[in-house]
Amino acid sequence: MTATASGIVGRGGEAAGQLFRSWFDGLTAAAEEKRGAAYVFVMGSVTELLRCFDFPIVFPEINSLQTAVRHVAHEYLNEAENYGYSPDICGYVKADVAVQLRRGAHPMGRIPKPALAVCTNACNTYIKWGEIWERMHGMPMFTLDIPGSRGAGVTSAPGSEDFERERAYVAGQLGELITLCERVSGRAFDIDRLREHLGHANTMQAAWRELIDCNRSRPAVFNALSDGTIYLGVANGFRGTAEGAAFFRDLLEELCYKAANGIGTVTKEQWRLAFVGVPCYPIFRRFAELFTHWGGVFVNSTYLWFASGGSHVDFQYDLERPLESLAAGVLRTVRAAMDSMFFQAPSLAEMIDPFGIDGVVFHPIKSCRTVSTGLADTRRALMALRDIPSLFIESDLMDRRVVSEAQLKNRADAFFEGLAARRAQPALAR
Ligand code: SF4
Repeated sequence: MTATASGIVGRGGEAAGQLFRSWFDGLTAAAEEKRGAAYVFVMGSVTELLRCFDFPIVFPEINSLQTAVRHVAHEYLNEAENYGYSPDICGYVKADVAVQLRRGAHPMGRIPKPALAVCTNACNTYIKWGEIWERMHGMPMFTLDIPGSRGAGVTSAPGSEDFERERAYVAGQLGELITLCERVSGRAFDIDRLREHLGHANTMQAAWRELIDCNRSRPAVFNALSDGTIYLGVANGFRGTAEGAAFFRDLLEELCYKAANGIGTVTKEQWRLAFVGVPCYPIFRRFAELFTHWGGVFVNSTYLWFASGGSHVDFQYDLERPLESLAAGVLRTVRAAMDSMFFQAPSLAEMIDPFGIDGVVFHPIKSCRTVSTGLADTRRALMALRDIPSLFIESDLMDRRVVSEAQLKNRADAFFEGLAARRAQPALAR
């Protein structure tokens, strides 16, 4: 498509909607044909590998958030709680349990049963969640153990002996996963198919980094909270596919066009913000409006880092050495995703100047202890590194019972008033 103002701006959102519908139509068809799916998670999905065995790919986290943005999550949560799950655990898990109890019935279609599940250690809930499917469906669950960083910046550098040991450890597990996939799918592993999927993943990963960088421009060309969540859906659901690669090539063209022509994502950009945590899906649009109403735009977020499975990392698969490179890529990206949840402060501090950030919004949520537990400490650590205003608000990603819109609005309004007062006093502003 020609990059004209009439044709290019807004086409990414439209294309994402079409891809999403086609994905869920495919899942519905798979469920009707009783084909077993590979259940995976956004941090370490290894879909590049699983696609070699023609598994339909199911991301239960994405299915669950879809129930929230479609305002029916409470029905699913109630069903799982009535079944015996505590109100206290991750809402994603409970919505999925209800989907399983409903034999796959979901607002976007029907979800096929799992033939196998791949869980990484990026979130401890992943592993307990996989055990639920094991009990319900009796299928195998594979746990991929990725060595994490030992502290902020305390990590094995690519090329070092430590890194090579860790890469070999991951490679050994991927070898076992291939054997399991061959057994479950009845298909032999084909390394040329893996090369093909890795090639598409390379295109997507490079584009992901570039699109995040596009938002250094003023005005910002996309909102990391709202548009970013849509892009994340495609980045995960279509990882390693020709459609995913084409989507991101086109999206990048759109965003570059907007940057070159000064086309922003909010009508009048006033404040450039960073978002830390997971969005509030039960009131997704209104949550974003708490900020856009004041001319606030999220130019970057830790969500774009960890929920893309670490795709912000500068890494490309070596197609001459696909298996070795897959292990290195999984190690680097999943570890980067974990770092984005546990050791974000230095990265946040580093992006303040290049992205021209005026304030940081921390949003811990009840459901997700993995992301939320350390956020108060992260805020303190960031304040020690940089003098930057921040807002700390709490709600949930699924459970509307703990979302108080009025309270969120009060806090957001006060935050913007504080930003305005700071800007009015040049000595305090950066
Ligand atoms: S606890 Fe957090 S990271 Fe883990 S599955 Fe739930 S939402 Fe995702």
